[in-house]
Amino acid sequence: MPTEPSVHSQSTSRPNGRESDVASPSRGFATRAIRIGQDPDSATGSTIVPIYQTATYTQQAVGVHKGFDYSRSGNPTRLALERQLADLESARYGVSFGSGMAAAHAITGLLSQGDHVVATREIYGGVHRLLTMILPRYGVTTTFVDMTDLDAVRAAITPATKLFWVETPTNPLLTIIDIAAIAGLRKPGQIVAVDNTFCSPFLQRPIELGADITWHSTTKYINGHSDVVGGVVITDDAEIHQQIAFHQNAIGAIPGPQDAYLTLRGAKTLALRMREHVANAQVVAAWLDARDDVADLYYPGLPAHPQYELAQRQMAGPGGVMSFRVRGGADRALAIARSTKLFNLAASLGGVESLICSPTVMTHGSIPVEEKIALGVTDDLLRISVGIEDVADLIADLEQALTRSQVFAVA
Ligand SMILES: *Cc1c(COP(=O)(O)O)cnc(C)c1O
Repeated sequence: MPTEPSVHSQSTSRPNGRESDVASPSRGFATRAIRIGQDPDSATGSTIVPIYQTATYTQQAVGVHKGFDYSRSGNPTRLALERQLADLESARYGVSFGSGMAAAHAITGLLSQGDHVVATREIYGGVHRLLTMILPRYGVTTTFVDMTDLDAVRAAITPATKLFWVETPTNPLLTIIDIAAIAGLRKPGQIVAVDNTFCSPFLQRPIELGADITWHSTTKYINGHSDVVGGVVITDDAEIHQQIAFHQNAIGAIPGPQDAYLTLRGAKTLALRMREHVANAQVVAAWLDARDDVADLYYPGLPAHPQYELAQRQMAGPGGVMSFRVRGGADRALAIARSTKLFNLAASLGGVESLICSPTVMTHGSIPVEEKIALGVTDDLLRISVGIEDVADLIADLEQALTRSQVFAVA
């Protein structure tokens, strides 16, 4: 398994940005999360990046300003977040958005009429909706493929293919896709974008594996406290960055300074939180795996997972999300979902608190039923996001829910 992240790209000057005096290739992930983009405020010495709650910036003379003129185009709090997150993904450029879906939309801004996308079959529901219900109206088409099958990916490529849209691990069945192998299929002019939301850069860094773009719903692990919706697109390619930044300003789906601040603050503890998420999830997975009434368990940290070797190679840990099917079918699964006391019955993942959900209804509502069945996303499936509470309490909660649900399922 790879060691904890330590690779670092040189900090470069950014539009409106200051050079960070702490940037150093030798610094570790946790240090960079707390330091990059976060020099003391040049105006006041404020140790913590201030929340620049301003729409506009006063100019000394017409066109003469300190690098900021209007907060849709640039804001110092947002810039600090963008520098921090880009660095954690071993890249130079980050562009943040008001949601993960706004970030996804910015990636589609790289496409033109007639372009074609090859996408992971088990893609996030909101991205599926964007690719199937919005983009076709602009003449952009998508082929969804099982990306664990490289021949299927090759067969899906057409002369119009511009973008490979990869999501790994997939949701909710935690299938792992080989990022380096997909990047190896790319021809000049084609772009590989990876949704890295489920891992965070602490566990997986697609750009190091050859992807052009890595992007996140920062709503999940990066902010980590379930109190902000946000997104980011990260690249090391200056030309792609230019286009994404142009889209951010042209469309205007920016995060406000308060949200940028909270996300920056959340990401400072990403290393600490991810270690705990993984440690807790491994204990919960082992506990579920040992139960007779758990029929299937999907977690890349289990040696029985079909891509266990790949997960070990590609990720620095198997993450905090898993799905399972219980004996007793859909009725019992729904009974478990309403019986947990610590695990909140809620969509989303990656926060410090543990969540449970029924993917068919709660996260994959926008995917047609036949497609869900073909993917194995059925009503007997439950997904959990393991938080960083005391793991003994989490297991006790699952135990009481599994026990109570047996009564419900029989009744
Ligand atoms: C949540 C999520 C998104 C969408 O992000 P929002 O912040 O909800 O807009 C995209 N991809 C994945 C994998 C997600 O979990």
